[in-house]
Amino acid sequence: MKIERMKQLVELINKYNYEYYILDKPTVADIEYDRLLYELFSLERETGIVLDNSPTHKVGSEPISKFSKVTHNNRLYSLEKSQSIQEIQDWITRNERLSSFTPEYTCEYKFDGLTIVITYKDGKYIQAVTRGNGIIGEDVTEQVRTFKSVPLTINYKGDVTVHGEAIIRLSVLDKLNKELDIPLKNARNAAAGAVRNLDPKVTASRKLDFMAYDVNHIEGKVFNTQMEVNKFLHDNGFKVAEILGLVHDTNEMEHIIDKINKTKSSLDFLIDGLVFKLNDMRHRDDLGYTDRFPRWAIAYKFEAEEISTTLNDVVWQVGRTGKLTPIALLEPVELAGATVSRATLNNYNDILKKEVSINSRIFVRRSNEVIPEVIGLAEKADDSVDIVPPTICPSCAHRLIEVGANLFCTNHSGCYEQIIERLTHFVTRDAMNIDGLSVQTLKQLYEIHHIAYPYQLYTLTGEQLSTLEGFKDKKINNLLNSIEQSKQVEWSNFIFALGILNIGKKTAYILSKKYPSLKLLKNATLEDLTAINDIGEVVASNIVEYFEDEDNLENISKMLELGVNIKFPTEISTNNYFSGKKIVLTGGLESFGRSELTKILLNLGADVTSSVSKNTNLVIAGKDAGSKLDKAKSLNIEVIDEQRLLELLENNKQN
Ligand code: NAD
Repeated sequence: MKIERMKQLVELINKYNYEYYILDKPTVADIEYDRLLYELFSLERETGIVLDNSPTHKVGSEPISKFSKVTHNNRLYSLEKSQSIQEIQDWITRNERLSSFTPEYTCEYKFDGLTIVITYKDGKYIQAVTRGNGIIGEDVTEQVRTFKSVPLTINYKGDVTVHGEAIIRLSVLDKLNKELDIPLKNARNAAAGAVRNLDPKVTASRKLDFMAYDVNHIEGKVFNTQMEVNKFLHDNGFKVAEILGLVHDTNEMEHIIDKINKTKSSLDFLIDGLVFKLNDMRHRDDLGYTDRFPRWAIAYKFEAEEISTTLNDVVWQVGRTGKLTPIALLEPVELAGATVSRATLNNYNDILKKEVSINSRIFVRRSNEVIPEVIGLAEKADDSVDIVPPTICPSCAHRLIEVGANLFCTNHSGCYEQIIERLTHFVTRDAMNIDGLSVQTLKQLYEIHHIAYPYQLYTLTGEQLSTLEGFKDKKINNLLNSIEQSKQVEWSNFIFALGILNIGKKTAYILSKKYPSLKLLKNATLEDLTAINDIGEVVASNIVEYFEDEDNLENISKMLELGVNIKFPTEISTNNYFSGKKIVLTGGLESFGRSELTKILLNLGADVTSSVSKNTNLVIAGKDAGSKLDKAKSLNIEVIDEQRLLELLENNKQN
C-alpha cells in the first residue's frame, strides 16, 4: 500500500517539478506541492525505502537542452524549510550540538525568483548560469546581461562567482500584465520564464532585477562572515539582499518574523519567507551539507497565499453604480487561515485574459485579509464550460450596455441590487457613518417605505422605523440619533458617500482638497480633473458625468435642504517645506501608512504623485525603496529618508 502511494507521489511530484522548473508553468500551488513532498519524505523515512527516481534527494530539475549546460564550480543547494519557531529552535539546538560556537545568524528576505550564479574574470562579466539540478545549470549569459542591476564590470579582479536571485518587481509585473494578452500569473514564474527565454530581447523587455546574496566561489579572498560577503557585493556594485538583523535566539528571530510578516505586502518584490544564515563562515564547515541543503542556513516560510481549487460557477454582482462584477464561486478551500469560497474576477475581459472556465482548476490568491482574487488557470478540465457574459441584468432584467471592458445596468432608479448597494455604501463609516442600518434593514426600508435614494434616509420618522423587524424604542432612538449626527459631515466623506463610479476614499480626499467647495467640484471640467495626478481620463469623466445627471443633483440638493451640513476644508498651509512640491513616496515607512502620509502632505499643500519624473521635486524613500529611488537618483532629485521626514514634519509643527 505504502509503496504504491510512494510510486504515485514520485510520479506526481516529478510531473510538477517538470512543469515548475522546466516549463515555468506550474499547475498546482507551492503549498500543494510541498504537502506531497512532505508526505513522500515521511513515507521514505517510515519504510526506509527510497525509490530510484525519487525527487526527495535532488535539487531542482535537470537542465534542458535548449540552453547549453554548464557545470557549477561549487554545487548549489536548496534551503531547509521551517514553518514554526519550534522547527527553528530544533535547528538551533542541532547546530549547537554539532559545533561549539556562540551562534549568531543573519536574517535576509527569501526572494521568490530564480537562482542565478554570475561569473566575473578580471573584473568582467563572463557567464550567468541557472541552478538547474545544483550540479549542472543552464547557460543564460545573454539573458542576464540584459539586467540593468547586473554590473558588466566590477572592481574585484580575481575570479568570482556571485550568487543571487533573478526577480521581477511587482510594479513592473503590474505594468507588463496590462500590456500582455495572457497575464503572467505570479512574480516567480514571470521571472523564471523571462530568464529561461531563448530570446534575450524578451528577457530585456521584462526588466528583471538581480538581488545578490552570496559569493559561491572567489579567488584570492577569504570571507569571515556573511556581513563581509554582503559588503563585498555592495562595494562591487550589486544590489544586495539587505541584512534585516543579526539574531541570536528564537525570541529575536520571532520578532523579525512578525515584523516582516506585517510589512511584507508593502515590498515591491515577492518574498516567500526569511532566511537565517550562520554569520560566521568559519563555523559553517563544522555543520556541512545534506544532499539538498546546507545545515548552516534555514528558511522560514510564511503562510501560503496562493492555492488552486475548482471554479464551480460565476455569478454577476450588480454594484451601486450599475457595474456588473463577475464573482467566482469556488470549491471551498483553506487558505491563509480562512475558508475561501468566493473570489473576484474584474470583468469579462479579465475572464478571457486569465483563460478561466467553469469546472477547471484555477489559482486563487488571498493576502493580508484582502478579498481573494482569481489569478489564472491552473489546469483546464475535460468538461470545462466557457463563461458566458449576461445580456440582461441579473437583478432587474434590464438590458445591459457595454462601457469599455465592463457591463452596466442603466436602470439606476429601479434596479433592486443597485439601490440596496447605493444605500449600503452611503451609510458606511468612511461615507456618512450611520450606525444601525444593516443591509437587512435597508432592504426592509426599500420594500416597505420605498426608500431608494440616500436623501430619503433623512426623512425617516420613528413611526416608519417602528414597522421594521426588531425595532423597538431604544433602537429607533439610536438610529434617529445616528442619522442626525451624520448630517455633520466632512467634505471628503461626503464626496465618497455619493458613490461616484471609481471614486474611492483616496480620490475623494484628493478631490476634497483640490476643490474645497461643492460648487467648485460641480464645475470642474475634464481638463481640470485630468490635470490632477492620480486621476485619469476615465475617472475624470465619471466625475463630470455624475454632476451632469439631474437625479444626482436633486439627491444632493435635497440632502442639503434636509439639514446635511458639509464641513469644507479650511485653507491649506503653504508656508512649509513641502508646500508646492511634487512628491513621490517609495518603500515602506515605519511611522505612517502610505495613505496617512499622503493626507498629511496634501494638507501641507504638496502634490503627491505616483511616478518619478523630471517634474518631481522630492522623493521620500522608506525601507526597500526600489526603482523609483534609482530613478530619482539618476535625475538628481532630492531624496529624504524617514528620519529626515520626521524632522521636517516636527520643524513644521514648531513653526
Ligand atoms: P526554495 O525556493 O524554497 O528555497 C531555496 C532557494 O531560495 C535557493 O535556491 C535560493 O534560490 C532562494 N533564496 C532566496 N533568497 C535567498 C537568500 N536570501 N539566501 C539564500 N537563498 C535564497 O527551494 P527550491 O528547492 O528552489 O524550490 C522549492 C520550492 O519550489 C518550494 O517552495 C516548492 O513549493 C516550489 N515548487 C513548486 C512546484 C509547483 O508545482 N508548484 C514545483 C516544484 C517546486
